[in-house]
Amino acid sequence: MGGHAGKVKPPRRSIVVSATPEKVASISARLAELWPDAHVELDHHNAYELLVATILAAQSSDRQINTITPALFARYPNAAALAAADPAELEPMIFSSGFYRMKAKSLLGMARAVVEKFGGEIPQTMEQLVQLPGVGRKTANVVLGSVFGVNEGIVVDLHVARVAPRLGLTAETDPVKIERDLMAVVPRADWSMFAHRLIWHGRRVCFPSEPDCEHCGLAPLCPSAFAAPALPNARARLAKAKPKPKPVAKPKAKAKTSKPKRR
Ligand code: SF4
Repeated sequence: MGGHAGKVKPPRRSIVVSATPEKVASISARLAELWPDAHVELDHHNAYELLVATILAAQSSDRQINTITPALFARYPNAAALAAADPAELEPMIFSSGFYRMKAKSLLGMARAVVEKFGGEIPQTMEQLVQLPGVGRKTANVVLGSVFGVNEGIVVDLHVARVAPRLGLTAETDPVKIERDLMAVVPRADWSMFAHRLIWHGRRVCFPSEPDCEHCGLAPLCPSAFAAPALPNARARLAKAKPKPKPVAKPKAKAKTSKPKRR
């Protein structure tokens, strides 16, 4: 899901907030025409799988996570199986998602909490979901909107945090405040699809440093058209700002213990 939005640096050019109800309705209708089938791009079959995939997707790409999850879900098909996982076996399986030790901890903590507090079933409310280790409001919104059809909030990932200000829907940079602004102007019934469509638009047209305004179907409605503030990819900026971590060797899968030979 494009990683957690984190804090997005204010753009060089000031954002024009122009979110009248009519304007938002026009943008929403145009987005629906452009991306009628927008959906979460993390492969999953149920709430458990989407929750696991979304936790893994932080600081990674959906495409990368989709290469990891088939084997992961085959090995740990539900929260109970994952709760009993050996970290030494789990970590190599998720290594390529990055931050694999922290994510393994989150996955184990989440699965154990689901088993202990919710009888092994993924909870269906925001309040309960955010109690789970590794699950914040964004992840909870993804699961609630995409699996349970509950519009409890609006997913704000890197793409939404970039495209919504360009479209004049918010001047905020903090994900929680961006979500609050969007929830105030987008009809509740549309929250989930609106986020999916903004994400698709951000991935395919409204790129971080060089938005393709020339081919953008929203250009007539967009106050930033052909003058969009360059919002450098937040992930790249974060990487630049932080000292580079030392390369980490892939953890070795636990060697199978061979049975002693019979004499
Ligand atoms: S017109 Fe340009 S800045 Fe506005 S949404 Fe389209 S691509 Fe993004």
